[in-house]
Amino acid sequence: MEILEELIGLQEIDTEITQLLHRAANLPEAAVVKGIEAELAGLEAERSRAEIEAGELANTVDANERGVGELRTQITRLNAQLRTVIAPREAEALQHEIAVLEGKISTLDDEALIAIERSEELDAARKAIGESCDATSLRLRTARNELTTAQDALRATLVDVRARRDAMADRIDVGWLQRYDARRAAHAGTAVARLVRATCGGCHLDLSPSEVDAVRRLSPVERECPNCARWLVV
Ligand SMILES: [Zn+2]
Repeated sequence: MEILEELIGLQEIDTEITQLLHRAANLPEAAVVKGIEAELAGLEAERSRAEIEAGELANTVDANERGVGELRTQITRLNAQLRTVIAPREAEALQHEIAVLEGKISTLDDEALIAIERSEELDAARKAIGESCDATSLRLRTARNELTTAQDALRATLVDVRARRDAMADRIDVGWLQRYDARRAAHAGTAVARLVRATCGGCHLDLSPSEVDAVRRLSPVERECPNCARWLVV
């Protein structure tokens, strides 16, 4: 077989390898995994925001309960004091003080009630988020398995194709392989092209009849496209 024919065969395998590597880097399964990971991260963030809010609400309820307890102790003390006073003005002042403290208790109770209601809403939301997280984690596991399967399959194919490539390259002279590699690097992966009728398969430009004649007159190892300088198999 002519060397350029052999190199074009090698190039087909190299193109296949490039395509497989491109596919490996752009697996749709990987995009799916990434999408679900982002979704899960969003849910986890939502969950942690809800946990923080739930903690704050619980703190409010506790603090208000403590506050109410302290206020009640003060009221008890004031009531005891009230029973001992004789002067009406003093009694009035104490009653006013008690009323102020009762107002504060009522504010704290209202706040606590709102916090408890919000906590209940939040509990339902947290439960829903938790369920979404579980379902999403499950989807993620499935998607990761699918990705692994796709990667394994591609890797196995690559091993086969590379073995074929090595076997073929072993039969080709090292000097030619080096020239081939240099041309491939210089010509976007296509070192050798076929001349189909008058069209170069590398640059897709037409050669004039006299250019085709000139190429044909050269020895097969010297044939190259006058436009793109790729080797031409005629
Ligand atoms: Zn060309």
